[in-house]
Amino acid sequence: MPVLSGKVGLIVGVANKRSIAWAIAQAAAAEGARLVLTYQGERLEENVRELAATLEGAVVLPCDVTDDAQVDALFAAVEEQCGGLDFLVHAVAFAQRDDLTRPFVETSRDGFRVALDVSAYSLVALSRRAAPIMERRGGGSILTLSYLGSQRVFTNYNVMGVAKAALEACVRYLASDLGPKGIRVNAISAGPIKTLAAAGISGFSAILQTYRDRAPLRKTVELQEVADAAIFLLGPAGRGVTAEVLLVDGGFHAMGI
Ligand code: NAP
Repeated sequence: MPVLSGKVGLIVGVANKRSIAWAIAQAAAAEGARLVLTYQGERLEENVRELAATLEGAVVLPCDVTDDAQVDALFAAVEEQCGGLDFLVHAVAFAQRDDLTRPFVETSRDGFRVALDVSAYSLVALSRRAAPIMERRGGGSILTLSYLGSQRVFTNYNVMGVAKAALEACVRYLASDLGPKGIRVNAISAGPIKTLAAAGISGFSAILQTYRDRAPLRKTVELQEVADAAIFLLGPAGRGVTAEVLLVDGGFHAMGI
């Protein structure tokens, strides 16, 4: 029996076929979930609609996570069109280009605000709207995507590392608030994968090579591996897990010299 059979999932953060969110969407659909995918602005709408057309019954809705009116409209539409919600995948991050190239100490007030708003606060904004809809179904599972730059310094990751540290703290506070309602909140901290967002980090190829050289599994992590871990956290096998940041990085995080 597919483990997400009869479940409705909202997946925020599909940009194209290389997106981590898309790998999770495909895996969740293969496990029987009915999905809602979102796109940010018209630029990505066609892409997301084409991808969604390959999934049975998928619904496509707009959502810029910095716009409260759009977030409200998204959850109203999810309830109306799907009748409920069982899981949410938050796979969204953004920092201004300058803040990913200059030294971290040069981060502007506005750059800091934008990175933290899009990449961390948005999890709170989405979770707050998802919670009452999930509660009516007896609980749910919320998952976000983080990176080890939250704990360690990676050249050029800069303000995004600070945003990921905030995001991981949000996971713990949200898990505490929503646990009594049967809603679990977790993150996957994925190893580096070449996606559109990753292309914004200069020197990304060198990071990939370092993982190949030094991670215990001597390889970079694959989209499908992250998606499989996501299904564990979203589905019944993860029912005892909340407030967790699961490292899916081939073990790189454990290495010292
Ligand atoms: P991606 O395909 O570029 O996905 C990032 C998504 O965030 C895009 O769909 C992007 O849309 C969306 N986004 C940015 N600002 C938004 C906003 N205001 N409203 C709504 N959506 C917005 O890259 P990805 O690597 O799969 O990233 C997904 C998540 O995984 C991110 O949180 C990222 O930090 C995390 N992660 C990635 C890696 C990696 O190495 N790739 C490793 C660990 C964690 P636009 O394209 O329109 O901006």
